[in-house]
Formats: sequence, C-alpha cells, structure tokens
Amino acid sequence: ACHASMKSDVSQRKDNVTTHGLSETIVGVLGGGQLGRMLCQAASQMSIKINILDPMKNCPASFISHHHMVGSYNDSATVEEFAKSCGILTVEIEHVDADTLEKLEKQGVDCQPKASTIRIIQDKFLQKVHFSRNNIPLPKFMQINDQECAKRAGQDFGYPLMIKSRRLAYDGRGNAVAKTEKELTSAINALGGFAHGLYVEQWAPFVKELAVIVARGRDNSLLCYPVVETVHRDNICHVVKVPANESWKIMKLATDIASRAVASLEGAGVFAVELFLTEDGQILLNEVAPRPHNSGHHTIESCYTSQYEQHLRAIVGLPLGDPSMKVPAAMMYNILGEDEGEAGFILANQIIKRALCTSGATIHWYDKPDIRKQRKMGHITVVGPSMSIVETRVKSFLKEESSEET
Ligand code: ATP
Ligand code: MG
Ligand code: MG
Repeated sequence: ACHASMKSDVSQRKDNVTTHGLSETIVGVLGGGQLGRMLCQAASQMSIKINILDPMKNCPASFISHHHMVGSYNDSATVEEFAKSCGILTVEIEHVDADTLEKLEKQGVDCQPKASTIRIIQDKFLQKVHFSRNNIPLPKFMQINDQECAKRAGQDFGYPLMIKSRRLAYDGRGNAVAKTEKELTSAINALGGFAHGLYVEQWAPFVKELAVIVARGRDNSLLCYPVVETVHRDNICHVVKVPANESWKIMKLATDIASRAVASLEGAGVFAVELFLTEDGQILLNEVAPRPHNSGHHTIESCYTSQYEQHLRAIVGLPLGDPSMKVPAAMMYNILGEDEGEAGFILANQIIKRALCTSGATIHWYDKPDIRKQRKMGHITVVGPSMSIVETRVKSFLKEESSEET
C-alpha cells in the first residue's frame, strides 16, 4: 500500500524538482508559525518538501521550510499563486481564506483537510451549530446581535457568561467573561462590539480541561492519541499532562466524543478536540482545531509517531503511525513571554538553562523575531518513568519562577 501511494503521489507532481523522500508531493502549508515549523521538522526526517505561505519574512517556519512565499493566506490571488507550487494544500492556522480554498478544490487542487472543514471551524458559532447538529455535547450557546439579545442570553444561561468572537480567535483573545449583567457592556466592548460577530456560551463548570488529538487518513480511518489534561493560565494553554489522570470510563468517553466530532468533518490530517470535564463526569466539547495543536506538542518526544509526522502521513496518503505513548508519562510546559523585549528573553533563558540540565527535558525554541507578553515563544517537554517524577523535573526548572511568586 505504501509503494502504491508513493507512485500515485508522483503523478500529482506539479513541479520539476526531483525528490527522493517518502512522498514526491510538495506539501503547501498556509501559515508559518511554530506549528508550521514543527511540521517542517517532521517533514525533514522523511525528506518531504514543505512550502509555506506566511506574511512574515522571518516567521518561525521560514528558516527550515523548502520554500517560503512571503504573502497573506487571506489574499485570494496570493493563495492561488501559492497553490501552483504545491501538490497538496494544508493549514497550520484555520484563519485562512476558505472561499479561495473552496474555489481551488473545485479546480482539482487537493486540500487536506477539506475547505468545508476550515469554513466550519474558523467561525466558532458555525462550528457550534455544526457539532450540535451532530449530537456532540456542548455548552449551550446563542448568537447575539445587540445588547437586548445579550441580556436575554444572560437571563437564560445565567452568570458568569462567556462571550466570544465568532472569528479570528486564538489564545483566548476573542473571549470575554461577564460576571454579572452589569459587566455585559464592558465585556462586549472589550471584544470590539457587535460589528465583527459575537455569540455567547453558557459557563461550563469544568473541573478539568482535556484534549484528544485525532488523526484521519485519506481512507477515513481514525486513530486517537492518549487523552491529555490541559491547564490554562489567563485563557492560554500553559501546561499539558500526559496521560490525563482520569478513570478508564472518562478516558473512553472523551475519546469517543472526540472521534465522533472529527468523523463529522471532512478531510485528512490531525485534528485537536478540546473538551471540558464537569464535576458529574460529563464531557462537553469546547472547540476543534483542524491541524496539529499545542496539546499535541508532547507527542514529539512521548509517542511513537508525533502529531506532526502523523499529519504529513495522513495528508500525503502514507499509512498512519502508532499514536500510543512510548514513555509512561510526559508534561509539556509552554514558555510564554513574561515581559517585552530583552527582559523577556532573559527570563526565558533562565528557564531554558535549567531545563538543559534536567533529565528527560527537550527544549523547543520557535525563533520568533520578538518577544511579547503572553506570546508562545517555545516549549519544554519532559518525559519520565512516572507522572510524579516528571512533575518533580518540571518543578526543578521552574524553581526560580515559583520562589519569585511566593
Ligand atoms: P485556543 O488558543 O485554544 O484556540 P481560543 O482563543 O479559541 O483558544 P477558547 O478555546 O474558546 O479560546 O477558550 C479559551 C479557554 O477559555 C478555554 O480553554 C477555557 O479555559 C475557557 N473557556 C472557554 N469557553 C468556556 C466556557 N463556555 N465556560 C468556561 N470556560 C470557558
Ligand atoms: Mg481556538
Ligand atoms: Mg481553545
């Protein structure tokens, strides 16, 4: 099967470059952030060539991609031009021009996952409508067009009330919480008012957040990675614990809901399903990302096949790899910008220096041109023989930071 798919890939080639990798298809990635960079790292092992499209000349993926086209993944003509240099188009960010992807698909361009999937996911309200139609459990939600609507939603759902931007959300930018009806106006204003589209969600009284990476091959076969616990700080993913410390029953429920959610979407690749676990053992879906995800960074060191390699295998039509863990426990720590400029680099460096001396720790630095508060600058994954040992190792490189806090 492997050989056959390699052959068919050759026939899809649109370039004149001779390659000798596991696939002859040049993979085009919309976006060149850290996820694009780690896709390039996985691609390099398999000698798969990746072209990236990103507006930033020195974006994280730019130095290690086969080719970097500097331009916007939201500009139709640019995306069309970029597509000419690739055999397959994929994304590392969902906020791309879905209309153009749809148009290109009609012209026979191979987009994985499908443009329809990107369209549904990039609008969080449409995403919620889609999953509720597919009977995936979710917090209650409602579109809001004006102040009156918002008030009614507050009366229906109660407070605190989660208000979200429909589009362009990431790292919690696009979310605002109103604790009471009085706070509605300021929360709505913080999101730029109603002009760009808002909706509300009922507060999910979660005890933990979980996530599952689901891979789907071109033959529609599904494979799930172990359920992880994600710990957020100020709405940003901060720490991921692998595997989550939950009963078999909860792990199975989370995996089932995640695979049902992904089965309702079209196209190959890896998908990340973010979930809430409530006190009474219910699982609710938060959102899905149609691409590799922060909650799957750990797979590089802790699983037989990383989410990045898996994504490439899935989209080019190679057999999917084993998603299971090759170590007993792992933890991923995001290095977030603590301060602007030089001071931020000094703080990050202190953690990195200590992590370099920590057994089982692997450091990833994304090489972003500048540091900003709360920006994801890099991450550290620690593996070990048990979760308690992994936790001790993480504490050992965070020790300065925690003593400063107390
Ligand atoms: P990401 O970087 O994951 O794409 P995002 O900007 O899309 O983030 P969300 O995933 O919608 O934001 O929300 C960020 C975090 O806010 C969640 O991980 C969770 O901690 C909290 N949150 C979101 N929705 C709710 C809700 N309905 N009830 C309670 N907390 C919520
Ligand atoms: Mg999101
Ligand atoms: Mg999220």
